Amino acid sequence: MKRITAVLMAVLMITGLTACGEADPDKARESIQVIAMDTPMVFTAYGEKSTHAVYMAEDEARRLDALLSRTDENSVIYQLNHADGLGITVGEEVCGLIEAAEAYSQATGGAFDISIAPVVSAWGFTTDRYRVPDEAELAELLTHVGSEHITTAEDAAALDPGTQIDLGGIAKGYASDRVAAIFRENNVPRGKAELGGNILVMGDKPDGTPWRVGVQDPAKPDEEAYAAILTLEDAFIVTSGSYQRYFEENGKRYHHIIDPATGHPADSGLTSVTVVADSAEGNGTMCDALSTALFVMGEERALDFWRSGTYDFELVLVTEDGRVVVTDGLKDILTEVEESGYTYEIVS
Ligand code: ADP
Ligand code: MG
Repeated sequence: MKRITAVLMAVLMITGLTACGEADPDKARESIQVIAMDTPMVFTAYGEKSTHAVYMAEDEARRLDALLSRTDENSVIYQLNHADGLGITVGEEVCGLIEAAEAYSQATGGAFDISIAPVVSAWGFTTDRYRVPDEAELAELLTHVGSEHITTAEDAAALDPGTQIDLGGIAKGYASDRVAAIFRENNVPRGKAELGGNILVMGDKPDGTPWRVGVQDPAKPDEEAYAAILTLEDAFIVTSGSYQRYFEENGKRYHHIIDPATGHPADSGLTSVTVVADSAEGNGTMCDALSTALFVMGEERALDFWRSGTYDFELVLVTEDGRVVVTDGLKDILTEVEESGYTYEIVS
């Protein structure tokens, strides 16, 4: 709880909240804080329908939480995970999300894989009862991991017995896409949505300048400390990092992003990956899936993937050895943070 408060405070500080209730309807501003999907969220919108828009965003986050949760017995995902190999109707929306996840899995050579769920659970991340599983247990669980164990058709899905799925690596990104759609439907000229490490900025700030979004310094997760700052409009900025969720045992740290190739927390030399793309529909989902996948892949493979041009995005990688590696599409909007102690590299 303390952690969540600190995160919210940091979020509020960088959002730079000011007083509400200005007279000009175009300047009307509403901002709410919500905890959904196990994540502190802040929705801020301007414009005449700002109040309606942020409350719709809240409802949507809660709807998706109830639909996609792995632990809520009433959720479609829970029911699918406990269907003992039988096909069930999950609805077109969930089916589409599973298929999108499958596409990102294929594109990233399996680095992103929603069927990693049983392995995530074995490490205790689903229940917060952390433990280090032994190799035999992981090897058995990994036999149930992989796209070949998932079947989808229109509005139905089936998992092989022993396979479960976990949409934790993509659900907040999808939710941010939905919030972007809600903001658009309500003619929100400018706004910001923060769903943990998933950020959406729409338009510019009321003073006409672009939004400033900090990339958290992974070495100082509980402080308002940034490894870099990006200045931008109409974009998704999504970060996955080993500092976001972890436990320690016998002096070793185990975090929540699992390498499907080993069943262990990814040990790729990175401490965080930030994926940036424009605010086009679907890009929130893409950025979320890719931030998780590229964290698993590590610097070299992540940059090769970026260069391949498979998807249109830019990257900020923070490495264990103290570098911030930035793809050249961001070079003009990047502010270095001198006191962070990182060295900066622009790559092309
Ligand atoms: P966060 O949920 O902290 O914002 P991510 O988007 O990186 O971070 O997603 C991490 C979550 O995704 C984990 O908590 C777990 O539920 C799930 N996950 C872990 N490893 C993988 C993976 N290799 N592919 C897909 N999902 C994963
Ligand atoms: Mg992700």
